[in-house]
Order: sequence, then structure tokens, then C-alpha cells
Amino acid sequence: MSITIAQDYSLRPFNTLAVAARAAHFCKVQSVLELQQVLAQNTDPLLILGGGSNLVLTGDFPGLVILNRIPGIEMLEQTADQVLIRVGAGEIWDHLVETCVARGWFGLENLSWIPGSVGAAPIQNIGAYGVELKDVVECVETLYLEDLLPRTFSARQCRFGYRDSVFKRSEQGRHIITHVQLRLSRQPSLHLDYGEIRRCAEQWGYDIAQLTPLDVRQIIIRIRSAKLPDPATAPNVGSFFKNPLVGAADFERIKADAPGVVAYPQADGTLKLAAGWLIDQLGWKGRRQGCARVHDRQALVLINEGSSSHDLLELAGNIQQAVLQRWGIELEIEPSVV
Ligand SMILES: Cc1cc2nc3c(=O)[nH]c(=O)nc-3n(C[C@H](O)[C@H](O)[C@H](O)COP(=O)(O)OP(=O)(O)OC[C@H]3O[C@@H](n4cnc5c(N)ncnc54)[C@H](O)[C@@H]3O)c2cc1C
Repeated sequence: MSITIAQDYSLRPFNTLAVAARAAHFCKVQSVLELQQVLAQNTDPLLILGGGSNLVLTGDFPGLVILNRIPGIEMLEQTADQVLIRVGAGEIWDHLVETCVARGWFGLENLSWIPGSVGAAPIQNIGAYGVELKDVVECVETLYLEDLLPRTFSARQCRFGYRDSVFKRSEQGRHIITHVQLRLSRQPSLHLDYGEIRRCAEQWGYDIAQLTPLDVRQIIIRIRSAKLPDPATAPNVGSFFKNPLVGAADFERIKADAPGVVAYPQADGTLKLAAGWLIDQLGWKGRRQGCARVHDRQALVLINEGSSSHDLLELAGNIQQAVLQRWGIELEIEPSVV
């Protein structure tokens, strides 16, 4: 089996910010074996790409870009109450959610309509509407780049946190995720109390007592498509900043200055502040800087209208500076900057 490696390849179609960067070398892999073969020959810097929806390319990539397209949704175990499935890292995340809901495997419906691949989902522990990937992960299978042999990380070893995991910390850049195992429920257990799910459901004529996981998926898709810009027409990476976590004293200080501050209490006693609200308070919503602008309905989303990410990162830096000056909070950029 030989894999074609293209040279000087455009990455524009492979990142949702539509940055017109190029890869010195580029290939697509569809199995662990192909991945091992390509990596065995490679000595260049490496970038793994899923859907490119959480990535800011700052220029051409001087090494090998591997597009991960390892497929497969396989059932490993089932009981009356649960299923354990193993999913290839190259599956499209929302296709997985759709498949699971259709087969009566529940737990992913609140994570509907998140762009990207299954393999990237554990890296930042994707989350939406009160559910995070960590709630259903059994384990994550990887290829360790040092010896090109498989490794398995239990959910505990993944050390998931808010938009965080071991793959963004001590194991960053050391593994390629090849498969993710998820334990899903065969009994619906709906999470309706986050964001506007319940209110929209009522407004759109659903009977709350009769809601199904498929209804929840459809409601969330409708909310998200009204609120979030489509990367195909307004290139973006979703939330550009993480919501900051602050202690009680900092929260009281900020609240004294901004009484309407939106905060979500966390299990560890900290409070998660809505970064979009903070940015909006400082008047950034809809503002433009060069070829970048802040979305006019959601201040957490930055839109790129240029062919590089230069203006976008400058705009992000100015927003960070403004929030720091006003409230002493350091906003952290959510996507990987490469
Ligand atoms: C409109 C929009 C809405 C979004 N909404 C949400 C949301 O609600 N919640 C949320 O959490 N995120 C959200 N995101 C962010 C993004 O969709 C997720 O982070 C997603 O998991 C990224 O997947 P990807 O395949 O596109 O990753 P990529 O952008 O391809 O990669 C992201 C990072 O992971 C690395 N990587 C990718 N695949 C692998 C692998 N197999 N092994 C090792 N490293 C890998 C890459 O090298 C890169 O550093 C949104 C993005 C957009 C554009």
C-alpha cells in the first residue's frame, strides 16, 4: 500500500477560517496502518488535521499535514441499558451524533451540530448545552509518536476539564488520536436546563413532557443555526475565547462594576463567566478591524474575511487587552494557533 504525498498543497479548503496557507507536504490517511507507514517515513514537522474548525493557521506549514479520515462506527458491547461504541477519528462528529440518535443510543444529542472530526473532540473536551464529551467517553485510543505503537487513555487518564484535556497539556503533540470509545445510554435522559433549550422548545410548540432525544437534537440545530454564522459564508472557528473561570472574590469585584455579569457556578467553587458578555459590554460586537470582525450577534465569534489570519489575531489581541484592562481577566484563545 502506498500513500500519495502531495507537495505545496493548499490548506484553504481544510480550515474553516479559510486561511490560504499551504502545506509543504500533504496526505490523507484512512487506517492506523496507513498512519504508521506515513509516520515511519516522515522526519518533518507534523500537523494533524480533522475538520480544521478549531485551528488558526498563521502561515504556510513547513512540514507534513496529515488529514485524518479513519472511518468506522462499531458496536463493542451492549446491554439492556447501554452500548459501548468505537468510532474512527476521521468520522464527522455531527454524522456520529445523527447516527447514534437514529439508532437509539443516547447522550450525544446536546452536542449536535458541532463541526469537526471525532478525533479532535477529546482534545478540547468539546461541550455545548450543559454536556461535555467527558460525560460519555470510555477511553481514547492513540498512536504514540515516539514509537508509533497504539496507546489507550482511560477517561480518567484523559484528565478532561473545561475545553481541556491531557492532550492539550503534558501529552500535547505526542499522540495522534485514532479512535474514541463512547458509552451511551439506551434510555433517554434529557438535559434541557442549559441555555435556551426549554424556552425555545415551548416557543416552537413542543410538548416538554413528550420530548425525545431527536427533538432535542432538532431544537439545538435550530438554535445553533440561528445564532452561529456558517463557516462556509462567514469563516470562523466558533468561540474564539474560552469562558474564564474566576474565584468568588474576583467575581464580586467584577459584579460591582458590571452588575449584569453572566456567571455559571462550577463544582470546584469557581465561576465560569460568559466571555461573550464581557466582550459585548466593552462595545466590540460587530466591530471590524482590517479583514476581521466580531460577529454582530455573538461577540465570542470572530469572522475572518481575509486570506491570512493576521488581522484576526490582531483583533483578538485588542479584545484580550481591553478585557484585561477593564476587569483584570486574561481571556485565553480557544482554537490551536499553528
Ligand atoms: C461554527 C462553529 C461552532 C463550534 N461550536 C463548538 C461548540 O459548541 N463546542 C465546542 O467544544 N467546540 C465548538 N467548535 C470548535 C470545533 O468545532 C471543535 O473544537 C472540534 O472538535 C474541532 O474538530 P476538528 O476536527 O475541526 O479539529 P481541527 O481544527 O482539525 O484540529 C484542532 C486541533 O486538534 C488537533 N487534532 C485534530 N485531530 C487530531 C487527532 N486525530 N489526533 C491528534 N490531534 C488532532 C489539530 O492538530 C489541532 O491542533 C465550533 C466551531 C465552529 C466553526
